[in-house]
Amino acid sequence: METELARISMPMEEMLDPQNLYHFKSREEFQASTPNFDWDNYFVAIGAPAFDSLNVASPDYFVALDKIIQSVDLSTIKDYLRWKVITNSAPLLSDDLVTEDFNFFNNFLYGQETQKPRWRRVQSKLSNHLEMAVGRLYVEKYCPYEAKEHAQELVENMSLALGERIKHLDWMSEETKAKALNKLACMNMKIGYPDKWMDYSELEVTPDSYFQNVHRAIRFENAIDMAKIGTLVDRDEWDLSPQTVNGNYRPEKNQITLTAAVLQPPFFNLDADDAVNYGAIGQAIAHEMTHGFDNSGRMYDENGNLNNWWTEDDDAKFTERAGQFVKLFDEFELFGYHVSGERTLDENIADLGGLNVAWDAYQMTDEAKAGKPIDGFTPAQRFFISYATVWRCLIRNEALELQMVEDLHAPHEARVNRTLGSMPHFYEAFDIPEGSKMFIDPEERAAIW
Ligand SMILES: [Zn+2]
Repeated sequence: METELARISMPMEEMLDPQNLYHFKSREEFQASTPNFDWDNYFVAIGAPAFDSLNVASPDYFVALDKIIQSVDLSTIKDYLRWKVITNSAPLLSDDLVTEDFNFFNNFLYGQETQKPRWRRVQSKLSNHLEMAVGRLYVEKYCPYEAKEHAQELVENMSLALGERIKHLDWMSEETKAKALNKLACMNMKIGYPDKWMDYSELEVTPDSYFQNVHRAIRFENAIDMAKIGTLVDRDEWDLSPQTVNGNYRPEKNQITLTAAVLQPPFFNLDADDAVNYGAIGQAIAHEMTHGFDNSGRMYDENGNLNNWWTEDDDAKFTERAGQFVKLFDEFELFGYHVSGERTLDENIADLGGLNVAWDAYQMTDEAKAGKPIDGFTPAQRFFISYATVWRCLIRNEALELQMVEDLHAPHEARVNRTLGSMPHFYEAFDIPEGSKMFIDPEERAAIW
């Protein structure tokens, strides 16, 4: 059953094109396409309020699902649904179920050898399901206001530098540049933590059942989501918790978020020199901004609507340049696997764009202008070393293999080596000769933003 469902799902490469995921339909039209599934019942069961139209992200999937429902034994469907309940609940149940769940998902699929201690597993559940309550405690303890203030200053510098780069692009028309600059000016920037915290007072938490607590939290979150149906987009809402080391760009809100937990080493250090911060958190901020202009992000306008603002000629030039990225990353091989240049395209565009922007912003600092070495490295060298340092990691082969076949990000080694290898300033900083392992033929180097 699961294999069948995988077979009818849209391939990840196709999902990267937002047009493929936008099919606005009336409720009747959607119901008519899947006569064997009672959507009215389903929407009532999940607590949805009344509505009459919806975006069916993947219509072909639902048509195929409708056929499967008709052709498969009822008992198989029941077994499948029971299995979903059990497998999703296993990490919350008794030790034997927890262990079986770990043995398959963590050990077999990802190569993890030992389970994390129970307190850490429970803590991460807490952090997932009471994310803003935990976030509030985290911020009080670990994110001084000066860190948020300093990061906001960096965000402004990155935005200025990206704007300047857009103005000076040699391949884009003035008409499209004006639209791109407008989109950048309208970008909503969320840094550190929200000004207003979420209210959890309606959520019941009791000391008797871990399982029940998690389930009540899931229902609580679901009710909040359902209440959004038919209302305006809330631009103040946060979709990443402050204690998660992460950042993102939401194209449908034209919004970047960098969490409080990113505002610590190796990304950010209040005591470090500018080269270290610009090469790490500076690049991370500019990476998220560049997502607004990557292969899929560029299809959304300044308000987050799918709306083409490109001239035909600029669109063709972008596509040609994107092709260079695909080729450059397709060639990267690790453990016999090739990176998919197509699947990782948006991330690779954002990595190099982010690094270019952070570099330009860094050049405006007094420290870069003074050019004084620290610990035997020039400011330029320290900037690039900092970028590479962020991506140091330990990873099991199993996890890496999975990443190579399904992740939207290339493995860290490719993110560092291919990105740096496309930057002329990197060659100057370390005096890299032709024939060196890091050397990429200038003709093959990628460049968009
Ligand atoms: Zn990204």
